[in-house]
Amino acid sequence: MYFTRPLAKLIEEFQKFPGVGPKSAQRMAFYVLDMTSDAAQGLATTIVEAKEKVKHCSECYHLSEQNPCEICADKRRDQHTICVVADARDLIALERTREFKGLYHVLTGLISPLDGRGPEQLSIRALLKRLPDGGVREIILAINPTVEGDATVLYLAQLLKPLGIKITRIAFGLPVGADLEYADDMTLSRALEGRREI
Ligand SMILES: [Zn+2]
Repeated sequence: MYFTRPLAKLIEEFQKFPGVGPKSAQRMAFYVLDMTSDAAQGLATTIVEAKEKVKHCSECYHLSEQNPCEICADKRRDQHTICVVADARDLIALERTREFKGLYHVLTGLISPLDGRGPEQLSIRALLKRLPDGGVREIILAINPTVEGDATVLYLAQLLKPLGIKITRIAFGLPVGADLEYADDMTLSRALEGRREI
């Protein structure tokens, strides 16, 4: 080993981050070593605080310090429409367009038999709990057109259609396999406007 143990350990930890290879992990570790003690302590505290304070909203499963989250608590939002997304990053991408004024539901993943992830591992039960009072008139599925996305849409459509709620899916003007999270605001706004009933 070329690195002294605590440094090697720090590099190893950074390398666990998504998209971070050995070179970037080294750069990050050296950056931390160049920080003042106060700044390094601040970074460590920020990580621990984020982990402790940010939780899933018990209604919609979005990440928030509050429960219910800011979106669920905002009674000015359209309470009759729920937009279903795979994760919090997709919610934020849609929220950034300012096009959608309803509520959300974050599935916390997609159905993926290959990864051993079935519907029971997603927040689908929590979604069903939000529906019985008849207040929800439309559920928009804003889910990526991937194999997992399509499997999840199919499952949700079969589950929700018998409840007499209008189920739509956003129209992707994007190639198959495109990622909602990285779509620009204009494309997302159009996808939302062009949603179709399924
Ligand atoms: Zn919420």
